[in-house]
Amino acid sequence: MKDISQKEIENELKLVTAATGDFEVKDKNFALDKNDFIVIAGAHKVESLEQMEEIAKALKSNGLKFIRGGAFKPHAFPPLAPNSETAAGLKILKEITDKYNLISVSEVMAMSQIELASQYIDVFQVGARNMQNYNLLTEIGKSQKPVVLKRHPGTGLRDFLGAAEWLMYYGCKNLILCERGTTAPFTHDVNARWILDFQIVPAVRRICKLPIIMDVTHSSGVREFVPSLMTAAAGLGADGLMVEIKPELPGVEKILPPGILRTERDQVIDLETFSRQIDKVKKINDILNRVTI
Ligand code: PEP
Ligand code: MN
Repeated sequence: MKDISQKEIENELKLVTAATGDFEVKDKNFALDKNDFIVIAGAHKVESLEQMEEIAKALKSNGLKFIRGGAFKPHAFPPLAPNSETAAGLKILKEITDKYNLISVSEVMAMSQIELASQYIDVFQVGARNMQNYNLLTEIGKSQKPVVLKRHPGTGLRDFLGAAEWLMYYGCKNLILCERGTTAPFTHDVNARWILDFQIVPAVRRICKLPIIMDVTHSSGVREFVPSLMTAAAGLGADGLMVEIKPELPGVEKILPPGILRTERDQVIDLETFSRQIDKVKKINDILNRVTI
């Protein structure tokens, strides 16, 4: 079951992912249907309460529901606790989601983190590099949490859906696919990391009913590309987007221990750009009869 073959796609084998009909995501905290366009926005990693609070306010003022923030990133959480296993980031995320009535999305990178993260996080993210970590997928599936599954840049649709199939086989009922860029022999810009694959949306629709969103941040890794990719994701008819945003907090850079780089700083957009672009996304979604949440 490590990838999905043509035969399986043609339904000679029964696949959970290949079920027909409209998709439905129905968790205790939220429900989505095919008219919804979800925006999962927030920090690469949780760095402070202040940072997450500013982000939460921006989400609320744009009428959005999903907040993201990594807690187990390898370079997690300076300056509060330079230990990647710390729960500090998770606790902040929970405090903010409770206070602002949001839904949290956060990456779980190892089996050992699942139990702790379950207490704080609403939706688990499987990172691109873990897409085919089947032991992890098994345990995440069993946790019954809703999942955002990212595609590894070096894998194709079959591998991607194979991983989705595995998660669902082990118990995940609410699964959102996330395209986050693929490797390609020629890139448009030598400084861009990967290329966002827009064709994957209709390709997924042809095979299964799972929702698919576009990660407009990690795909190129280039800040200037992000705004146009946000509107493109809506125009394409994807089921949503993921984006990293950051408040201007003077002083944050200064309190970091020397030598520690704030990660992913070249790709994150500021809150003003984000809000401006969300207005455009909403207009596109209005035309397409979709609700931006
Ligand atoms: C992230 O979401 O912050 C991240 C690093 O994602 P990816 O697994 O797509 O690299
Ligand atoms: Mn990131």
